[in-house]
Amino acid sequence: MLDIKITKAAALKQKPDESKLGFGMIFTDHMFLMDYTPAQGWHEPRVVPYAPFQLDPACVVFHYAQELFEGLKAYRTAGNTIQLFRPDCNGQRMFDSCDRMCIPPIPVEDFVQAVKTLVEVEKDWVPHIEGSSLYIRPFIIATDVGMGVHASKNYTFCIICSPSGAYYPEGIDPVRIYVEDEYIRAAPGLTGAAKCGGNYAASVKAGELAEKKGFAQVLWLDGVEKKYVEEVGAMNILFKIDGKIYTSACVGTVLPGVTRRSCIELLRDWGYEVIEGKLAIADVMKAGHEGRLEEVFGTGTAAVVSPVKELDWKGDKVFINDSKIGPVTQKLYDTMTGMQWGRLADNKGWIVPVCNG
Ligand SMILES: *Cc1c(COP(=O)(O)O)cnc(C)c1O
Repeated sequence: MLDIKITKAAALKQKPDESKLGFGMIFTDHMFLMDYTPAQGWHEPRVVPYAPFQLDPACVVFHYAQELFEGLKAYRTAGNTIQLFRPDCNGQRMFDSCDRMCIPPIPVEDFVQAVKTLVEVEKDWVPHIEGSSLYIRPFIIATDVGMGVHASKNYTFCIICSPSGAYYPEGIDPVRIYVEDEYIRAAPGLTGAAKCGGNYAASVKAGELAEKKGFAQVLWLDGVEKKYVEEVGAMNILFKIDGKIYTSACVGTVLPGVTRRSCIELLRDWGYEVIEGKLAIADVMKAGHEGRLEEVFGTGTAAVVSPVKELDWKGDKVFINDSKIGPVTQKLYDTMTGMQWGRLADNKGWIVPVCNG
């Protein structure tokens, strides 16, 4: 158990217009902080007024990107409970990312306690409009001052929160995806399985180029042969072919998404065969041309599911389900969001209540 000291802001910000929230632009009144030094370990857990950091320009994080982050949401139910979805999974993933990034780990239960404590302080910031939520962004940065390339000795763990609007204010809209054949996101031995900023810095260029060509996102192929599908943008990706569900295994180059894992569990509960393994893009395109590619969708905390209507690979195109969301994608969306916003009973033990709103 952390002994978290809470210092409230002297003046609170004005709450935003909930119909114009967007994503990740407005931040709440407080943040969680905890520091690491070799002598004290992780210490001084605290909730303090939201404020800029003062950091030496020579800090390791600015130059060598030793950092990681997480992303999850707090939801307000119709009965006015504030709740989280599987925060322990985010805590475990952060623990695993710490190992890869040489950052001293934070126990999963401390992570969950920190998130719950901050969300309770900020409960009035959890928006009320259907489909909106409080996005929670935990992150750890390396704070050693110096240009030497080595693991930092000192770190800061911070959690900030941002009220976010519904991802699909105008209804779910399937997207066009560019199968990326030049740039890669990950390769065996690299950091693809860790949620770290470096992965994103490396992926911005491909995303920009695809956007210019009119695509919403890129589909990443494996970094060695550029033959097997891995992820789409910053989401995991699943394919329904001939009634079975296929997705890449989380083998070190794929980020182990909490949404992916939850969808797989639900699909198996519903009797679908889910195959986690290598899926060649050529086989996906072939299935598309033969009318066997029934549904394609990304999964991630922000959107829950993002249906794909078109895949373009080296000029070859396949179109999926008449540009409409498929029934399995829809059922996953309804079930996941139903549990998250408390419209459906949680028979999986995934919901963690925080407080009354
Ligand atoms: C965060 C992330 C995901 C999705 O993970 P969730 O836990 O479902 O939000 C997928 N791929 C990448 C690269 C990510 O960073």
